[in-house]
Amino acid sequence: MRMRGKVAIVTGAGSGIGRATALRLAAEGARVACVDLALDAARATAAAIEAAGGEAVALGADVTDERACARIVGDAVARFGRLTTLVNSAGVRPERRDPAPPPREWQRVVDVNLTGTYLASRAALPALAAAGGGAITNLASIYGLTGGSLSPAYAASKGAVVNLTRQMALQWAPAVRVNCVCPGVIETPMTAPLLEDPAWREAALRKHPVGRFGRPEEVAAAILYLSSDEAAFVTGVALPVDGGYTAA
Ligand code: NAP
Repeated sequence: MRMRGKVAIVTGAGSGIGRATALRLAAEGARVACVDLALDAARATAAAIEAAGGEAVALGADVTDERACARIVGDAVARFGRLTTLVNSAGVRPERRDPAPPPREWQRVVDVNLTGTYLASRAALPALAAAGGGAITNLASIYGLTGGSLSPAYAASKGAVVNLTRQMALQWAPAVRVNCVCPGVIETPMTAPLLEDPAWREAALRKHPVGRFGRPEEVAAAILYLSSDEAAFVTGVALPVDGGYTAA
C-alpha cells in the first residue's frame, strides 16, 4: 500500500488517465476526491473505487473557475481531514487540427490545460504544505517537450505546464514536491477521434519505438510513483511516459 494515509484530489477523474490514476491511488490506500467537469463521470469513478473497497468522494468542478478550485480543496479536507496529493489531469485537446486556431479556441485550450492546472495547484498548495510530504503531479505531454503537436495552443499549453512545474517545484521546496509526466499517445476518449483516422494513427505509431500506444494505467503507474514517498527526493522533473517518442 504505497499511498496509505494519503488524501488525493484527482482532477479530470471522470475519464482516461485521471480515472485510471484515481483508481490506482485508491488501490494503494489513498482516499480520493474524484473531480470532473461532468459530475456523473466523477461519481462513476468514485463508485468504482468504493466497489473495490476504497474510499472516495465525487466532486463536480470546472478547474478554470478559481472559486470552484477553492471549493474542491475545502470539500476534500472537510471530508478526509487533510490533503497530501494533487493530480492535475483535467485537460482538453483542440476541437480540430487547425494550424492557426482562432483566438477563442486558443484561449479555451490554454485556459483548461495551463490556467486550470495553476488554479487547482494554487488552491491546494496551502493544504499540501500543511500536511507535510505533499506532492503535485501535472499532466504535461510529449508535445510539451517537442514541437510535434499539430496544435499551437496544445503545444504551448503543455510546454508551459512543464515550466510551471519547475517553477513551483523551486518555489515550494521542501514543503511540496511538484513534478509532471509527459505521456506519448495514450488510448483514451481524448485521443479516440484521432486514432480513428488511419493515416494519423499510422504516422503516430511510427514515432513510438515500442510499437504501440500507451494505456492510461501505464501513466497512472508513473503518477503513483511521483505521488508516493518513494519519490521523496524527486521534484521539478518532467518524466516522459512515451514508449520512446522523445528519445528520437
Ligand atoms: P480525457 O479522457 O478527455 O479526460 C479528461 C477529463 O478532464 C474529462 O473527464 C474532461 O471532462 C475533464 N475536463 C475537461 N475540462 C475540464 C475542466 N475545465 N474542469 C474539470 N474537468 C475537465 O483525456 P485524457 O486522455 O485522460 O487526458 C488527461 C490529461 O492527460 C490531459 O491533460 C491531457 O492533455 C493529458 N495527455 C493525454 C494524452 C493522451 O494521449 N491521451 C497524452 C499526453 C497528455 P469532459 O469529458 O466532460 O470534458
